[in-house]
Amino acid sequence: MTVRFRPVLDALPAYVPGRSSPGATKLASNENPYPPLPHVIERITEAAAGLNRYPDTNSTALTQALAEKYGVRPEQLALGCGSVSLCQQLVLATAGEGDEVLFAWRSFEAYPIVTLIGGATPVQVPLREQTHDLAAMAEAITERTRLIFVCNPNNPTGTAVAGAELVEFLDRVPRDVLVVLDEAYREFVTDESVVDGLTLLPRYQNLIVLRTFSKAYGLAGMRVGYGIAADPAVAMAARQTQTPFTVTSVAQVAALASLDELAEKQLAERVAELVGERRRLTDALRELGYAVPESQANFVWLADGDPAAGGIDAVTFAAGCEQRGLLVRAFAGSGVRITVSTTAENDALLAAARELRG
Ligand SMILES: *Cc1c(COP(=O)(O)O)cnc(C)c1O
Repeated sequence: MTVRFRPVLDALPAYVPGRSSPGATKLASNENPYPPLPHVIERITEAAAGLNRYPDTNSTALTQALAEKYGVRPEQLALGCGSVSLCQQLVLATAGEGDEVLFAWRSFEAYPIVTLIGGATPVQVPLREQTHDLAAMAEAITERTRLIFVCNPNNPTGTAVAGAELVEFLDRVPRDVLVVLDEAYREFVTDESVVDGLTLLPRYQNLIVLRTFSKAYGLAGMRVGYGIAADPAVAMAARQTQTPFTVTSVAQVAALASLDELAEKQLAERVAELVGERRRLTDALRELGYAVPESQANFVWLADGDPAAGGIDAVTFAAGCEQRGLLVRAFAGSGVRITVSTTAENDALLAAARELRG
C-alpha cells in the first residue's frame, strides 16, 4: 500500500524556477541585480540574534509602517511569505470545488498552481497582442467565478493595461467576486496611463492590491509581500488562511529597514537605473530586428514567431544564450523572458542576441 494523495496533485504544473548555474549570469527570475542595502544587511544581522524567539505573527511594526506609507488603515493589510503566498491564501479564502478562478494566459505561472491546490478550476483567457484582454476576461466571468487575478504589469510579457481600461473592467465585475491586482512590478512603471491600483481601492470594495519586497526592494530571498484590500474583511480572510508565523522576524526587520527614508531614496535610484537599462535594452533589441513589447517591469519579453516579423524560437534562443553563459527564462512555444540587469550584463545579453539573430 502507498499513501493516497489528492488527485489534483497529478494535474499540478510544477512551478519552474529560473535556473541558476555557477559562473553563469542569471537573467531568469526578475531578481534585482543589486544586493540588499548595507544598512538593511546590518539590521538583518542584528535581528538574527533573536532567532530563538517566534516572530510577531501579526507583523505589527511592518504593518503599521506600510499603512503609514500608503495612508491606509492597518486592518486593510495582510502580509505573506512573498506575495505568491498571498495569491494562494486568497484562493483558499474564496474558491473551492466547483468554483472558478479567472486570469489571463500567459501570466504568472503561480496562478494555475495555487488555483488547483485550492481545488478550484482555472479559467484562462488568452492575451491579445501580449496584453491582458480585459474585455474578453469580463465576458468570461460566470456565476462560478470567485476570484480574478489581474497581473499589471504582466509577468512574463511586461505589458501593462491602462487605467481607463482597468476601471471599465472593474465596473463589470460583480462586487462579490474578489479582484486581485498583482502589482509585483509597480515600482518600475513609468507610463502615466497605467494607474496605481491603490488609488482604485476607495471605489472597489472587492479589490486587493498585491505588492512585494522581492523585486524593486531586492529582498527576494527574504520572502515578504503584502496585500492592501479595500475591505478589511478581505485582508482578514487572507490572514485566516495563512500558515502561522510564515513571515519571519528577520524578514519583518529587513522589510521595515527597507522602508526608511535612506533606503527608499537609494532603492529609487536603483529602480531608475534599471528603468533606464530597460529602455536601452528594448531599443537595442528592436534595432537588431526583435519584436519587443513595451515593458513596464524589470524584464523584457521576446515572443515565439516568424523571425521575419521579429519572432524567435524560445527554446533555441535560450539554449543559445546558455552557451554564452546567460540564463534566460524560456516558455517553450511561447517566448523568452529576460530580466533587466546591470549595464555589463545587459551588454552581454545584447551581444548574444546579436549573434543569435545573425
Ligand atoms: C515575482 C512575482 C510575485 C511575487 O513574488 P514573491 O517573491 O512571492 O513576493 C508576484 N506576482 C508576480 C506576477 C511576480 O512576478
